[in-house]
Amino acid sequence: MARVALVTGGTRGIGAAISKALKAAGYKVAANYAGNDEAAAAFKAETGIEVFKWSVADYEACAAGIAKVEAELGPVDVLVNNAGITRDAMFHRMTPAQWKEVIDTNLSGLFNMTHPLWTGMRDRKFGRVISISSINGQKGQMGQANYSAAKAGDLGFTKALAQEGAKAGITVNAICPGYIATDMVMAVPEKVRESIIAQIPVGRLGEADEIARAVLFLASDEGGFITGSTLAINGGQYMI
Ligand code: NDP
Repeated sequence: MARVALVTGGTRGIGAAISKALKAAGYKVAANYAGNDEAAAAFKAETGIEVFKWSVADYEACAAGIAKVEAELGPVDVLVNNAGITRDAMFHRMTPAQWKEVIDTNLSGLFNMTHPLWTGMRDRKFGRVISISSINGQKGQMGQANYSAAKAGDLGFTKALAQEGAKAGITVNAICPGYIATDMVMAVPEKVRESIIAQIPVGRLGEADEIARAVLFLASDEGGFITGSTLAINGGQYMI
């Protein structure tokens, strides 16, 4: 029977590539999004993938949204925590709201989404939790104290939960993309983008599909011995 995959922020950018790749591999896919109805409708029309609107920053909304997805598609086997935002500012100018919004979405979002699914995965003795962190959670980035803190937190979450899920057949992994050509990165001024590319040994931005292919592997049965790991996909920009 086809496995069910739920991708947060699955209607645009990296998440859209992940949703499409999972569908092409035979999964039943649900794509969540936050507020961009137009993009979600276009994505649904293009792919036939069901879209579901709620904020990963809101625990109750996540629990209700997941219940809806499971009623329509069946129990979720694969969760891809991809939704993320930036609210960049140098620290001396960063507002408490900028800090909170990023932590609520990029870090607490992992708790809010994974927690309601965890017991079901444990009971069924299978689960895949794959979270999209960032190179900037590994190396830190000026102007992104909030984002770097949240994304680094995602890695601690992954390692702790991997230990808890191991005996129950649940793997928990994180991917740290480098700079990928999505709206988030194309929104930065061209000059800044050029300086970013100059720091990437392979000499280009990554493609969303390159992240999606790694998600597919981690989700598969073949990836079952990989847990608690952090996979860097960054064109050689940061090596640890
Ligand atoms: P985009 O801005 O292109 O897309 C973000 C997606 O997340 C959208 O579908 C958006 O929904 C959704 N989203 C945002 N906030 C919420 C929320 N509170 N609840 C539910 N969905 C939400 O982002 P990218 O594709 O660039 O990034 C995807 C992930 O990859 C993020 O976690 C990001 O931090 C990470 N990343 C990206 C890199 C890059 O170079 N692009 C590099 C490293 C990491 P809506 O359409 O409704 O706004």
